[in-house]
Amino acid sequence: MIAIYPGSFDPITLGHLDIIKRGCRLFDDVIVAVLRNPNKTPLFTVQERIEQIRLSTRSLPNVEVDSFDGLTVNYARIRGAGVLLRGLRVLSDFEHELQMAHTNKTLDDRIETVFLATSNEYSFLSSSLVKEIARFGGSVDHLVPQHVALDIYRCYAKNLPASNPIVMDASPKVNYPTVDREV
Ligand code: ADP
Repeated sequence: MIAIYPGSFDPITLGHLDIIKRGCRLFDDVIVAVLRNPNKTPLFTVQERIEQIRLSTRSLPNVEVDSFDGLTVNYARIRGAGVLLRGLRVLSDFEHELQMAHTNKTLDDRIETVFLATSNEYSFLSSSLVKEIARFGGSVDHLVPQHVALDIYRCYAKNLPASNPIVMDASPKVNYPTVDREV
């Protein structure tokens, strides 16, 4: 059984990673699929996010990372997936996720949505929260993989946390913006 784990992942957090690792034990293959959403202004490009996720999941043999646009169920059909994997944190997640699951069921009733409850330690964690902390100079080392934290600090280079001096002249793989982008 192939599962698609769709989302924005802007950027991937330890909460996402926890869902991916647990999904890997339940399904033969997990495809982490970054949604290309022209209506959002992300901090990282789709390609940057794909690279961050690939690096974070390199020890998991049954994970693939891809991107898609349009309807998730269409993408799932193309990839031969029978499951959409989603994570649930708080009650407010549930309302939105349930609506999406019902909608997707009306579009293709062969594709099931499977929810994994967040692990306790990540129940508060979201990509937006991570960006908000970093934007104001806080440390996010405990919330995202180390290489993602460095990517974020480069984005908000003006507000590097004192506890995280990074070598700013080390040439990054991609050209990161140094201006604040919308969270
Ligand atoms: P989206 O824009 O689709 O919500 P996200 O990247 O924010 O994309 O989230 C993708 C999925 O991961 C969603 O199902 C979300 O509920 C889940 N998720 C996000 N953060 C966590 C977390 N800390 N613990 C468990 N699930 C999470």
